[in-house]
Amino acid sequence: MERLATCHCGQLRLACLGEPAKVSLCHCFDCQRRTGSLFSVAAFFARSQTRLIAGTAQSYTRPSASGFAVSFHFCPECGSSLWWEPERMPHLVGVAAGAFADPGFPMPEQAVWADDAHPWLALPAEIAAHARNPVKAAPSD
Ligand SMILES: [Zn+2]
Ligand SMILES: [Zn+2]
Repeated sequence: MERLATCHCGQLRLACLGEPAKVSLCHCFDCQRRTGSLFSVAAFFARSQTRLIAGTAQSYTRPSASGFAVSFHFCPECGSSLWWEPERMPHLVGVAAGAFADPGFPMPEQAVWADDAHPWLALPAEIAAHARNPVKAAPSD
């Protein structure tokens, strides 16, 4: 199966082949500010499963709590952040789950930085909540 992640204006498109290695929700303040929403959902795909098929991206790199930098790639036209590359997991690419615009997309298996979550936000019990981001919860393949 191939899914297409597309920015808001449509010029930037990333094709993702197969199933994500992991789907993770993050409540951290960086994700809140980056998305303008209350949490981010990342679909981690192996780098070899992703392919930029259209458009030009701009990037922004920032340090993360793990001590490793993360580079975010976004559309210079509309500003949507489409994928990111965590230096800590160089074999994986995080793709913004919302960019697939697919309600059938696999549910996150974990939620990290629950410490920063809005108290009224309730998630299904099947999503394992972590107060911060346990390194052992990182995708292993
Ligand atoms: Zn765009
Ligand atoms: Zn985050």
